[in-house]
Amino acid sequence: MKTLSILGSTGSIGTQTLDIVRIFPNKFKVVALTCNSNIELLKQQIDEFKPEIVAVYDEEKADELKADIPVYKGMDGLIRAATIGKANTIVNSLVGSIGVIPTIKAIDNLKNVALANKETLVTAGAIVMKKLSSSKTSLIPIDSEHSAILQCLNGENVNDVSKITLTCSGGAFKNRSKGELGHVKAEDALKHPTWNMGAKITIDSATFMNKGFEVIEAHWLYNLPYSKIDVVIHPQSIVHSLVEFKDKSVIAQLGMPDMRIPIQYALNYPQRIKNESLPQLNLTEIKELTFKEPDLERFPCLKMAYDVGIKSGTLPAVMNAANEIAVKYFLQDKIRFNDIHRIIQESIGQHTVITNPTIDEIMEIDKKTKEETEKEIEKGMCIAS
Ligand code: MN
Repeated sequence: MKTLSILGSTGSIGTQTLDIVRIFPNKFKVVALTCNSNIELLKQQIDEFKPEIVAVYDEEKADELKADIPVYKGMDGLIRAATIGKANTIVNSLVGSIGVIPTIKAIDNLKNVALANKETLVTAGAIVMKKLSSSKTSLIPIDSEHSAILQCLNGENVNDVSKITLTCSGGAFKNRSKGELGHVKAEDALKHPTWNMGAKITIDSATFMNKGFEVIEAHWLYNLPYSKIDVVIHPQSIVHSLVEFKDKSVIAQLGMPDMRIPIQYALNYPQRIKNESLPQLNLTEIKELTFKEPDLERFPCLKMAYDVGIKSGTLPAVMNAANEIAVKYFLQDKIRFNDIHRIIQESIGQHTVITNPTIDEIMEIDKKTKEETEKEIEKGMCIAS
């Protein structure tokens, strides 16, 4: 029996994780749930899954929630859920750098982590991987690309890998010209063609920042240099990623674009369980699988992520923090699409990199970058430019 604590249970990955839990009541028991502020949905989840505690990140909303079980709040609440004695597995589907400390605390408390929070490895990959190497716990990626790589590497020797290729839907704006990208709105991006995701990641997908994060995550997860990590656009989102070995053999993982498939894999790893409710791939219905190179000129965030990843230290944390703020403003229609990259680049340019930072230094820089980025945007400099 896996006892689960699901951080971010009301979001896209969280609700889909509960879809899997619902089908296998004998395999999974929910012991903790957390949300940011959606207490209406959290209430329904409490009634249905009967956790022992919940946490609400938004402290005011936490005070509004009436429940028969303990309700914790803020970062302290997330950490309680990440370290609760009765959970053996933590699903981290938090959005943003608030997910970093809960992952680290979970590992410190010998929990297995099913990870959907990108910021954990983007900002603190070196620290997290070092902790895992000296621990008996495991960290299994939920993200479809990293799940694909993990599956392709089953039974293989990582030293035999010559490169990996992460596939990418291309995001909502893959067919827009550079000029058109100056005018696109958040609502246009939110109509993502293949994956059903939360708002923040949908914008990250449209800017290619999401793929940049995934490149950095893959670097840490599979201990590969950036020169061995490729990205290819694959609009159908059927081939989830590929691994090429030194004998030129390539193994890919395919499936319908449904996050419940990699979620279920992460929860049961290394076992596979039968689930007839998941969609089946029928290649003749898909008809064609196409691939092309990403356009780094129209979508400069991808190239930026490679550069930032190679420089490493505190720079990925700065890139992530500036992106979080820029996306927040773009979602409110306060800045333009092309401003997102410019704002991040500005923050990166101003930063003096600390090599081998501590987790406290990373979180401090995260906070400082967010405050400064917000100030810069509020000054209106980006809107005017
Ligand atoms: Mn992905």
